[in-house]
Parts: sequence; structure tokens; C-alpha cells
Amino acid sequence: MINEKSPGLPSADEIDIPALKKKYELERDRRIRKEGQQQYVQPKAEFAEAYEGDPYTPVKSRAAVSEEIEIAILGGGWSGIMAGVQLRKAGIDGFRVIDHAGDFGGVWYWNRYPGLQCDNDAYCYLPLLEETGFMPTKKFTDGWEIREYAQSIAAQYNLYEGALFHTMVSALRWDESLQRWRISTQQGDEIRARHVILANGLLNIPKLPGIPGINDFKGRLFHTARWDYDYTGGDQKNPEMNKLANKRVAIVGTGATAIQLVPFLGKYAKHFYVLQRTPSCVDTRRNSVTDPEWVKTLKPGWQAERRANFHRGANESFLRGEKDLICDIWTEVNRNLAAEREEQDWPELTLEEIMARYEEMDFRVMERLRRRVDSIVRDKQTAELLKPYYRYQCKRPTSNDDFYDTFNRPNVELIDVSESQGVERLTENGFVANGKEYEVDCIMFASGYEVTSDLDRRWGFEVFEGRGGFSMYDNWNGSYKTFHGVMTHGFPNLFVIGLNQGGLNSSLTVNFEEQSRHVAYIIQQAKERGATTVEPTRTAQDGYVQHIRDTAVDRTEWIKACTPGYFNNEGKPDVDENGNEKYRFYLGEIYGPGWDAFMKLLEDWRQQGDLDGLYLQ
Ligand code: NDP
Repeated sequence: MINEKSPGLPSADEIDIPALKKKYELERDRRIRKEGQQQYVQPKAEFAEAYEGDPYTPVKSRAAVSEEIEIAILGGGWSGIMAGVQLRKAGIDGFRVIDHAGDFGGVWYWNRYPGLQCDNDAYCYLPLLEETGFMPTKKFTDGWEIREYAQSIAAQYNLYEGALFHTMVSALRWDESLQRWRISTQQGDEIRARHVILANGLLNIPKLPGIPGINDFKGRLFHTARWDYDYTGGDQKNPEMNKLANKRVAIVGTGATAIQLVPFLGKYAKHFYVLQRTPSCVDTRRNSVTDPEWVKTLKPGWQAERRANFHRGANESFLRGEKDLICDIWTEVNRNLAAEREEQDWPELTLEEIMARYEEMDFRVMERLRRRVDSIVRDKQTAELLKPYYRYQCKRPTSNDDFYDTFNRPNVELIDVSESQGVERLTENGFVANGKEYEVDCIMFASGYEVTSDLDRRWGFEVFEGRGGFSMYDNWNGSYKTFHGVMTHGFPNLFVIGLNQGGLNSSLTVNFEEQSRHVAYIIQQAKERGATTVEPTRTAQDGYVQHIRDTAVDRTEWIKACTPGYFNNEGKPDVDENGNEKYRFYLGEIYGPGWDAFMKLLEDWRQQGDLDGLYLQ
């Protein structure tokens, strides 16, 4: 056999799919909150510490900058780093990276909580491995290693030169008389940039549940993206949190962050409460240390091949005879299907037949994961509460070898807050759940990030105006309108990395790399042609958006059926211009024909060489 099915995978006969569908629906419905996104408060004013402060690098005062530059890259995470790398590769200099953080790294700068690892195969996730010669030490490698690697690439490509850290952009205005962007910052800078590349990230603004009484709590409270090691003890490389030995600790949330963190808090806190609204699904990790003998076998081009294999496994389907090189939770459904196709020698199937088998496998995999809970958690009631009842990938699937076992510890308690659709209340001394007050010393919010809230909340620029003072927030109100996913009409010389209206690759960093390559090409071509501005025409943009929508796979039913979360705008639909329900999907609008077809679309356009659809002046 080329691929092996997951051990313990039940057959379709062992599960009652119609009953499960009903259960999924019930579990979703009782979690949908009428306030949708409005249940969360912004990290401003009294909550500003959750966003504005930097617990890792002291903020130094500096003189305000007033200058003209060629390009400003807003953001120094993977997307900003990729933009800088591709600009250098295209021979373009004269740019500055501007970031709110104290260094490069983005989410890997801010997130330093104990147990932080990459949940994706690091040989796929980390960019430029063949070029830099770097090899992560583990398949799911540690957060600090990713941060250090990101910073080493920034150093290698000289991105530190001119970088402005601890700098928050407050306004972006296109100045017609200068034919430049005016960038104002909270630090008093006035930068006039010919081009702006927005690379401000997908997980940049911590999301805070607006729990009644949140201001009343007198103990320590922080978001996991601003870890307080002074309070807990230990550090990121050695998270021995011995200062928690006499502390009662609560964590809010059981998403991907909490799954990694819970085993550490369970180990060190005197008493530990896990406040769960919706359970995650948690598989075995199967992490491994990088084998130097395996590394020696790798041939040039291996990373692109591995990434393509992962993409097919996670998002499309394996080719006949193709082995799953990754074998993780992301590729499981397709790996099992490939194994059964081989075992049972399936004939060619129609798309509908494939989708039906995919759906059935989805139910079987989720059942396997629920049985996994029973096999580890000893208390039956706790085990029942930890079982996820929704379709695979309605929430981010996770893997961890210690999460479930943590609930067998005598000092750890699972508190289900699904009845009250979240934590009921905070008080001076702790929290209230299911009518009972629990006293704690510290509450940690593993409550995620603003992913599908309105753009002005996520970008945070008070002003963002293109030609004629037209606001970007009005321009993209409700739906993106882009050309190739990276430019928009009315906003000359503005490029966006990270947002999606086009092909989607399962390794996020591949998307950033390819979008950056495209942006660098356009800027370089515009310069070569002596143009001061470059902007898509309205007609070209309309044509592109129509093409994406005509080819898009309609995911509405799947999104709607999912349990609420940031994947589906908290289960609340928007209303489109025709009055129809439209679900905001966190991954944006995805090109139906797939990633390879999208790469060809961009490559063909570049090869054509006439910048068709762009207006140069
Ligand atoms: P999530 O948004 O996934 O989870 C937030 C958690 O907080 C959920 O369990 C949510 O419950 C809970 N919550 C929100 N409001 C309340 C409330 N009022 N009361 C109780 N609970 C509440 O955030 P994460 O930080 O876990 O993950 C965010 C993303 O970060 C991931 O999806 C992933 O993209 C990324 N990540 C990546 C990692 C990697 O290795 N690459 C590792 C960790 C995170 P509910 O589900 O009911 O809304």
C-alpha cells in the first residue's frame, strides 16, 4: 500500500451519519450569538495593553522621521519579509519596513507562550529553505526557532536597514500633488512613499471577548499573544513556570493556541480551570526530530515538491499512486480516501461521487477523533464535553500528545461555558460560570484574533484614503475588489499581500511569496517604463473579480452549517447588494480552478509583458 489509513478509523457502517448531522446542527445553533462579531471588544483604551504594549523589547524614544522614500512595507511578519526579499531579488532598493513590533517575525514575534509550535509541517511552512540551507530541528518546530529564522532572513536580505520598529501607522493618504502616499504614524513620522505594500497580517489584532465585568477583575489578566513570563516564571525556550506553583489560573478558549498551552499550565499551576465554549479536535502529534540522513537524501526542488504534495493532501486530492509525505491531521481525509481508492480499486468517479465520499470520510475522521477522547480522558463527563461535534475543518484541526491527558490531573478542571454562550461574567476575584463564582489569581485569554471583523478594526488606520479622498474601508465594504488579488482601482501604487481574492495555497507562506513576486514584478516594470503611478483600470478589475466569482466553488452551505467561529464570521451572514445572505469566509474568495491554475494565470500575464489591465502614468 502506498498510503495507510489512520489506525482506528471507523467504517461508515459504524456511525449514524443522519443522527450526527442533526447533532452538529443542534450544537451549532445553541452557540450562535445574536451579536456576532460585536461580542468582542477592541484592544483599545482600558484594553490597550493587549495590543499596544510590547512585553519583549523595550521601547526606545527616537526622533520623528520626515522623508521621501520609494516604498514603505507596512508589516515585518512573513508577508512583509517576503515582500522585502522579492523586491531585493527584483533589484529594487530604497524601501523601509515599518512595524508595530520591536523586530521582525509578526505573529512569531508576538506569540511566545509556552508550548508554541508550528502546527504545520515546518519543511513546508518555512520559506526559502533550499536557498538559505536552513533546516528546522523538528517537523512541527518551536516558535522561537521560527522567529529566529524569520529574523535571519531579514538580516540576510538587509531588511533591517531603515526598518522602523515600534511604529504604528495611523493614517494613509494618497497625495495627488506629490503622486505619493503620505504615511502618518503615532510616533509623529511623516513619510511620503511612492509605493506602499500592505503586509499587516491576518492575525495581528488580539480578539477580546466582551465578557460582562471584564474591568472588575483585580488579578492578572493578559492575552496569550503578550505572554507575561515575569508573572509566570520561565522563558520561551525554557517555560518552567514555577511562579504559578501557588496560583489559581484560568484560561479562556480552547482553540489552536490553548491546545498547545494547556498541558504546560496544567503542569505548573496550583489549580487550573479551562473555560471551554466549543471543543477543538485534537489528534496525536506525531512530531519528530529532523533526521540528518533524510536531509542528505533531498534533491534540488524538494521543497516545492513537498509543498505541492501537502497542498494536494490538504486542499485537493492526492494523484493516483502519490504518497502522502506529510501524514498529519490536515492531510488525513485525503490520505484515507487515497488508501481506500487503492485498496478497493475505485473506478473513475464523478465530482458528485467524490464529494459524497469526502463527506462520509469527514464524518468517519471526526468520529475517530471523538473516540480518541474516550481512550485518554478518564472522567466520562469531562470526556463527553471535550468531544467536537462539527465537520472537520469547521475549526482549525489540531494535534497534541498531552492535551487530553492534562484533564486526568487532579489540579485541572474543565468548565463548560457553552450554555451561556461564553464566560458568564468576571468579578473582582475571578469568574462566574454556570451560576457559580470561581476565585482565581490570573485569567489568560487564548481568545484568538480579529480575522473576519470589519477592515477598519483589523487594520487600525484611522484614515485610509485613495484618489479623491475615497476611503478604502468604503471601497472594500462587504467585498474585495482587486486586480490579481494585490491591487485595487482608485488606490495607485498600493499593493496588498496576505488578503485573498485568487488562488490559495495550503502553506500560507507560499501565498505570501507568490503575491510578493507578482508585486515586485509590477513595481519593477512600472519603474522600467518610467511611470510614476501604476493602478488597475476599472474595467480590468471588474473583469478579474467576475472571473474569480464565475469560477469560485460555492461553499455557502458548508460554511453555514459550521459551528460559529472566525472561520464563518461567528456564524452570522452579511447581506449582499441583492439582499441575499452571504457568509464572510476567512480565507477570502478562492479561485475555483486551483492553485496551479492561478499560478499559470499570473505567469501567463507576466510573460505577455504588456501589463495588460494596468494604467501607467
Ligand atoms: P481561536 O479563535 O481559534 O480560538 C479562540 C477561543 O476562544 C475559542 O475556543 C473560542 O470559543 C474562545 N472564546 C471566544 N470568546 C469566548 C467567550 N466569550 N467565552 C469563552 N470562550 C471564548 O484562537 P487561537 O489563538 O486558538 O488560534 C487562532 C489562530 O492562530 C489559529 O486558528 C491559527 O490560525 C493560529 N495558530 C497557529 C498555530 C500554528 O502553529 N501555526 C498555533 C496556534 C494558533 P469558540 O470556539 O466557541 O468561539
